[in-house]
Amino acid sequence: MNRLITRAHRLARVATRAAWALLHRRHPILAQVVPMRRCNLACAYCNEYDTTSKPVPLEEMLARLDRLADLGTSMITVSGGEPLMHPDLDAMVVRMRERGMVSSIITNGYYLSPERIRRFNAARLDYLQISIDNVEPDEVSMKSLRLLEPKLKWLAELAEFSVNVNSVVGGGIQVPEDALAVARRARELGFTSTVGIIHDGGGQLRPLDERQMAVYRALQRMGSRGDTRVNRIFQDNLAHGRPNQWRCRAGARYLYVDEGGLVHYCSQRRGTPGIPLAQYTADDLRREYDTPKACAPYCTVNCVQRVALFDNWRSPQKTVPPAGADVVPAAPAAAPASDRALAN
Ligand code: SF4
Ligand code: SF4
Repeated sequence: MNRLITRAHRLARVATRAAWALLHRRHPILAQVVPMRRCNLACAYCNEYDTTSKPVPLEEMLARLDRLADLGTSMITVSGGEPLMHPDLDAMVVRMRERGMVSSIITNGYYLSPERIRRFNAARLDYLQISIDNVEPDEVSMKSLRLLEPKLKWLAELAEFSVNVNSVVGGGIQVPEDALAVARRARELGFTSTVGIIHDGGGQLRPLDERQMAVYRALQRMGSRGDTRVNRIFQDNLAHGRPNQWRCRAGARYLYVDEGGLVHYCSQRRGTPGIPLAQYTADDLRREYDTPKACAPYCTVNCVQRVALFDNWRSPQKTVPPAGADVVPAAPAAAPASDRALAN
């Protein structure tokens, strides 16, 4: 009963935030923050981690969360690296909720324990996504169903927050059919499941091969309970290697705040605009809302595409980008681990 009440409250808060996002276009819908670049794993396709960095001090993270709240941000996703390596992650969740923002975490799951799950319950975490790449660990990824099964059972038993399990197709994953096994296990345990399409380590957008496409279709037939259903057209085009026509609102409706506190378009466009969050203003939001991104047609960053759905029906982007602001040609962007997860 407690879980049902918590879930109902959460859905009501998210619906209110979604309505506000539709009505008002001058605030960020989603910000991804990185409190720790370090990761305990080393997935072969990943370009978002290091092996040595220290956690960002809690006070600094809280100041960043306050700044995002002041900008009107609706939802925060904490990613990494591996965010559960940060010792104060639950204190960040508490601050997000105190400031009225929806809270979520993307993790590889290795540091989950009953005690950690209870701490997230107490902090009133809203969403947790765990990414599972295969059934058995291999040289590409250690995020395997067999190794993470005990964590999934703890989550099913104890978590008061919503849990999504993301599986992936493409990107060097050796047994495409593993994505089906992961999705089925997630459903058995009462979680939502999503699938992300990833591409090769060079970031090239490639259509899925016949075997991968068969798995993708089977996952679609299972019916997504997550946001893949909302973003179906994008996903289908990526599967076939086709460009998408959309308006990327990164830098305005979506912010990527790295461990140094700089705002970037997304994990794959780090360096642009590269402005410190503390100095990010309504003028920056307005400019980036109107700025077309040359990398959009072959972009695989699913969470930014989902955010764009709130505005695709309005406000064409007309501003000519300032010199050097968006010099990347229309080359495909690699799907970041975290965003894959959110498709992921
Ligand atoms: S994909 Fe996630 S778990 Fe794997 S190395 Fe990158 S950050 Fe770590
Ligand atoms: S890679 Fe995708 S999300 Fe990032 S700036 Fe380009 S179009 Fe936007």
